[in-house]
Amino acid sequence: MTNDFEIDFSNYVGECGGIIIANPNASTGRLKSLDELTELLRAHLDMVVIVDEAYINFGGQTAISLLDKYDNLFITRTFSKDASLAGLRVGYGIGSRRLIAVMEAVKNSVNPYAVDSLAETLATAAVEDWCYYEKTCQQVAGTRDWFSRNLADLGWKVVTSQANFVLAKPRQTTKEVFEALERKHIYVRYFPKVERIKDYCGFLSGRTRR
Ligand SMILES: *Cc1c(COP(=O)(O)O)cnc(C)c1O
Repeated sequence: MTNDFEIDFSNYVGECGGIIIANPNASTGRLKSLDELTELLRAHLDMVVIVDEAYINFGGQTAISLLDKYDNLFITRTFSKDASLAGLRVGYGIGSRRLIAVMEAVKNSVNPYAVDSLAETLATAAVEDWCYYEKTCQQVAGTRDWFSRNLADLGWKVVTSQANFVLAKPRQTTKEVFEALERKHIYVRYFPKVERIKDYCGFLSGRTRR
């Protein structure tokens, strides 16, 4: 990543076994555009490019429209974030027949997580009521943007997020922020052991009405 946490696709050249990126990325929330993803796919037509869209429904543009043209693209999704159903342990993949066929062929021997029938039923119900989740995702994104603006006004350095969380660097030390908020029973994350974000705090966005 660059200094402001953007994934730099110019580093993704040369030989490798495959590419996997999260878009939006975690724990920054930064989003790559479809144009940039297209360029990446074109540069790697001979390998699988997996785009993890765990957070895509909080405002990003999905890469689904690129599937028609690029059969090296595979998109993964989860019900854990946008549908708040992490306990179900259900996710899904979207890809070309060619890639799905490979997964079908190996899934019974390498997939350690079978989706149980209860989880399958509940995930199906969630999909059938997706309007509800669209609304809640919009509320979460609204809170995120409002919160980001306010933090910036307070002089924090805020990473522009398209996910349901915000990474931001306070003027105080992260430890001071953590402890001050903890006294108010507000719990945030900070990452003292991760060099590049050790001065940043991570906030999770909720859907609370303001
Ligand atoms: C949460 C998350 C997932 C999926 O997690 P599961 O709960 O195991 O479905 C995948 N990728 C990213 C980047 C995530 O944050």
